[in-house]
Amino acid sequence: MAMNRIQFHAGLSLPAFLAQFGTDEQCADALEASRWPQGFSYPGCGNANYYLLKVGKHKTFQCKCCRLQTSLIAGTLFQSTHLALSIWFLAIYLISQAKTGLSALDLKRQLGVSYPTAWLIQQKLMQAMVERDAKYTLSGNVQADDAYLGGELAGGKAGRGSENKVPFVAAISFNSEGRPLYIKMAPVPGFSRKAVFDWATADLAPGCIVTSDGLSCFAGVTDAG
Ligand SMILES: [Zn+2]
Repeated sequence: MAMNRIQFHAGLSLPAFLAQFGTDEQCADALEASRWPQGFSYPGCGNANYYLLKVGKHKTFQCKCCRLQTSLIAGTLFQSTHLALSIWFLAIYLISQAKTGLSALDLKRQLGVSYPTAWLIQQKLMQAMVERDAKYTLSGNVQADDAYLGGELAGGKAGRGSENKVPFVAAISFNSEGRPLYIKMAPVPGFSRKAVFDWATADLAPGCIVTSDGLSCFAGVTDAG
């Protein structure tokens, strides 16, 4: 799913969003440009010669060589949707702009859809975000530190050794100007060299430059290359 290439940046006002993505046609064009920046080519054979059909609301492409068909929304999270793309885009915009999350009830009100529909939209978008997050690896300059999540329980040890806390690696990637780009918080079984090795293998792009506060387990990053 290539939605990540359609940028709804943080400062985009609602009127500016509606001017760019207010109609189904604008949303379809944005989705097509996002999926096939160099123009459509059939996913199976790579052929760029196609017939354009319209099945229901959505553009359908038929490859001229193998005659197979695929649609603009096939293989995306909008596949088999009955909702207009403009409703989906507005939902993505609203969720991306909400600083403290958006309930299905909020979505229902703001999109003018039924509660079950709003709930389904929310579930699909959250799932897509989780999957995208899981695939994302930090690259470039990365600062990593050990962190703990959890409350203080009476009688527990304080600090790094506390048994009441879940250990995390918190890592932030920075651009060349030193501005933060992405953050990833990953629970780890503990701060062993092996745990940090596994974390680095999953969450870091090869060759990135990692700085940390020097806990010895962070040598696991070097082990992972
Ligand atoms: Zn073909």
